Amino acid sequence: MPDTPVVAFSAVSKTYPGRVTAVSGVDLAIRYGELACVVGPSGSGKSTMLHLMGTLDRPSGGRIAIDGHEIAELSDREVSALRAQRIGFVFQQFHLAVGVPVLDTVADGLLYAGVPLRERRRRAAQALTRVGLDHRLGHLPHQLSGGERQRAAVARAVIGEPALLLADEPTGNLDSASGAAVLELLRELHAAGTTVVVITHDREMAEVFDRKVEMRDGRIVADSGLPAAPCSGVRR
Ligand code: ADP
Repeated sequence: MPDTPVVAFSAVSKTYPGRVTAVSGVDLAIRYGELACVVGPSGSGKSTMLHLMGTLDRPSGGRIAIDGHEIAELSDREVSALRAQRIGFVFQQFHLAVGVPVLDTVADGLLYAGVPLRERRRRAAQALTRVGLDHRLGHLPHQLSGGERQRAAVARAVIGEPALLLADEPTGNLDSASGAAVLELLRELHAAGTTVVVITHDREMAEVFDRKVEMRDGRIVADSGLPAAPCSGVRR
């Protein structure tokens, strides 16, 4: 795997109109193959971090590189292409198209990859099998349970084999059993090589991740992925 991180933030800040500083002076590197979460209370800047990592928004200050690309050096069109080809998203509300069979919704995850329809559908069926939904290919979203919808959303997010899978409160709308199944699925994807970053306010859920990045007031206040700082006062 490349040495450069998949997510590299250097002194990143984001200030919204009205002078709300949502993220301030954040340094963060996430390596390929990590399973990490960003955890913090409401208003701590997690969604802003997700938007910045996902190239949905540009920073007000500092530098961001995603999958080795300096975002500031890319046009909006190039950023959109990077996002479409290298980043997968899963949201709390699933975002599955109403009235579209699950197979086609998942196949649409390859729309921008220039893959012919027949192949898109073949790979969508494969991706749905991978998330345990091979018996639901022709179902419409409203015919699925919440857990099944989220698994379909995960299938759509990973069908293009993104460098980075970003999940925003992926279990937020699910009962605990379905939520646990979705988390297990993310762990399986990670075990198979996908880099996964989950955003959550749920401290209990955060405990299951290999790496926990904790935010408060737009800053990182703890990061279990970093080597512990040497204790002051240690005798040498
Ligand atoms: P979290 O996801 O942890 O709840 P957010 O990143 O959504 O935190 O928000 C961090 C801060 O930025 C909050 O004070 C929020 O009100 C503010 N904020 C978020 N989005 C916007 C926006 N589009 N315009 C203005 N302020 C915003």
